Amino acid sequence: MKLNFKVYLTKEVNAFAAPDGSIRVYAGLMDLMTDDELLSVIGHEIGHVKHGHSLNALRTAYVASAGRKAASSAGGVVGNLADSQLGALTEALVNNQFSQSQETQADDYGLEFMKKYKYKAAAMETAFRKLAKMGGNSSFFDKMMSSHPDAAGRADRVKDKLGKAG
Ligand SMILES: [Zn+2]
Repeated sequence: MKLNFKVYLTKEVNAFAAPDGSIRVYAGLMDLMTDDELLSVIGHEIGHVKHGHSLNALRTAYVASAGRKAASSAGGVVGNLADSQLGALTEALVNNQFSQSQETQADDYGLEFMKKYKYKAAAMETAFRKLAKMGGNSSFFDKMMSSHPDAAGRADRVKDKLGKAG
């Protein structure tokens, strides 16, 4: 799996992963999180790439926005897109809502990622608590929550998993 990372210098609290392994983190998220918490979010995003969720999301967005004809010609779909189309698709990825089970898969991947590299796995719980606490009072948060719903529930789940493990 090839990954690349970039940070967007905006105050928005967000992160997303494109199917080619591009992980994008918004500076607002980095301000909010500790290093370990940030790593847990990144681990989660890598999980979406690994499980092919982002590719499915992009495919859906592409078919919806750019027409079925080019999409069905297969192969390097992204490579053939004009910049403006790419922008629209990035937007679609950012706003994409993964299913509950996809989020759970990505959370599990993120947790394993934290353990594997000996980062503080418990940081994933506090990362979700921070997101949950922010709920409802800012527009940028709405975006993060629309793509990553139920932060409090997921914090509980992570806590539960870690409790059982250790
Ligand atoms: Zn997610």
